[in-house]
Amino acid sequence: MLRESFSIPHISSGDLLRAAVEAGSELGDQAKGYMDKGQLVPSELVIGMIRERVAENDCTGGYLLDGFPRTVEQAEKLESMVGANGHAVDHVVALEVEEDKVVERLSGRRSCPECGRLYHVSFQPPRSDGICDDCGAELMIRDDDREETIRKRLEVYRRQTAPLLDFYEKAAILRIVDGDAAPAEVAEQVLAAVREEDD
Ligand code: AMP
Repeated sequence: MLRESFSIPHISSGDLLRAAVEAGSELGDQAKGYMDKGQLVPSELVIGMIRERVAENDCTGGYLLDGFPRTVEQAEKLESMVGANGHAVDHVVALEVEEDKVVERLSGRRSCPECGRLYHVSFQPPRSDGICDDCGAELMIRDDDREETIRKRLEVYRRQTAPLLDFYEKAAILRIVDGDAAPAEVAEQVLAAVREEDD
């Protein structure tokens, strides 16, 4: 929804890493073990990958990063990456959701390997069990969306990613949005938070 509203590319570090794993590239091979355990992939790998992606032509008018940065070190690298092109990080959106709800959402998440559409077994089920409404492909479950791994990812979030809230609060670009609502409503709130600051 944000990608369409702003006509900018949506760059998800997790999607890029999963594509690298799928392609069997060197980066994918190095990243896979960490991802399966719910740990962060070493920053130097992720930063290099993002640096390459944002240098592509479709990023000249801005872009939306999703899942990056995940540590203060990555945030500092992002600052210099963006600054080198005479730009700045305009907004940082933190979506707040209670941990039990995160577990409920992720453990029921299903995705289409062909078109990327997301579903949830209870909240947004496909018309036909396990099949994508749009392209008919068989839906898949992410390897790291098992409860035990989700709990590990949340622990990693608390320890390594939550300090970013302070980092961006100090930079006065942090927008906190309640993520515990229907997707369209959350998107509206994010748009409102970002636009308010632009005015
Ligand atoms: P996500 O799709 O954003 O939930 O990311 C899935 C997994 O990819 C994470 O649990 C990490 O193992 C890895 N990953 C994604 N983004 C990053 C990042 N910025 N830094 C380190 N690891 C990442």
